[in-house]
Amino acid sequence: MTFSLTSLSLAHVARAARALSLFRRSLLFVGCWSFAAVAVSTAAELPTVALFTTGGTIQSKGKHRLTLSEYNDGRVTPDELLTDLPELKTLAKVEVTEISNIGSGGVTTELLLKLAKSINATLARPDVAGAVVTHGTGTLEETAYFLQLTVNSAKPVVVVGAMRPFTAISRDGPYNLYNAVRTAATPDAAGKGVMVVLNDTIHSARFVTKNHTYHVETFVARELGPLGFVDSDRVVFYRNPLVRHTVTSEFDVSKIETLPQVDIVYGYQEASSAPIFALTKAGAKGIVFADSSPSYARAFSAAQAEGVVIVQSDRKGAGRVTLSERGAGRGIITADNLNAQKARILLRLALTKTSDPRQLQRIFNEY
Ligand code: ASP
Repeated sequence: MTFSLTSLSLAHVARAARALSLFRRSLLFVGCWSFAAVAVSTAAELPTVALFTTGGTIQSKGKHRLTLSEYNDGRVTPDELLTDLPELKTLAKVEVTEISNIGSGGVTTELLLKLAKSINATLARPDVAGAVVTHGTGTLEETAYFLQLTVNSAKPVVVVGAMRPFTAISRDGPYNLYNAVRTAATPDAAGKGVMVVLNDTIHSARFVTKNHTYHVETFVARELGPLGFVDSDRVVFYRNPLVRHTVTSEFDVSKIETLPQVDIVYGYQEASSAPIFALTKAGAKGIVFADSSPSYARAFSAAQAEGVVIVQSDRKGAGRVTLSERGAGRGIITADNLNAQKARILLRLALTKTSDPRQLQRIFNEY
């Protein structure tokens, strides 16, 4: 019995192997054709992709090829970035605008507004297919989410960075940039909001977060996963974000020169409420709490009495903050499942429209 079963399995295996080899040969055939198709499309008119550079590790130099942290030995210019990657010429006509060349910890409101306005002006041109932004990974998710709320075009916008500097062995920057331009040039990428592409993975700016201090596989969307992948043969999408973004966003920064101050306070055991009083005094218009603490109660009320809007986020990194009757009664807004740094971005923009708690909660429910 055992023997006959085994021989049956062997026969199956042999048949499967024959089928697999036939399949492989046909794949090779299809592969040749798709290669020919790629060759034809490179000869044809290429799409224009606008590249906005801001700096970050992708443009950073280290002393040695093994310098994988503390790489403070200058930065490459946008020209060097492009010269280093001649393969981009087969994908698109890349037009570069240098916004800055800094680490992402130094990104300011002024820079965010300049970036959003430049992208909006460029994407309004009919000849431009999409935009790519180079950025440090540290605060990349904040800029990506800001653009998701303020770019008013359905054309793809892709934010890209690298975990290893330009000078490192096995650096990830060039292929990330190549894949970002491929994604921005892909018609299927339109209407998906702002995307973050690193490590062959496409994430929505709304859900992505940096998850590891130095691994190249650092960007994740904890509960919801990626939108798609940049595979060797094509860019594949499996999902669409359903929240409001880009063309359905109500935020318009075209005439805005600055944004209200919003800060973040982190909750922990026996947390001091001193930061809440200090921020209120320093002129904060909103405070986002990454978790709360019982000791905050008095400071909450004092801040609210000064007109400070309180938004409740959470430090766990996944899951919605649900709206309790008690919280709503005290005028506290919940951040849905936005982490504190993204809730801060949304609150700053929301405060340009309203300070009515019901309207603010609607905004947090919709974006
Ligand atoms: N320090 C870098 C920054 O600009 C880190 C990075 O790009 O990964 O955020």
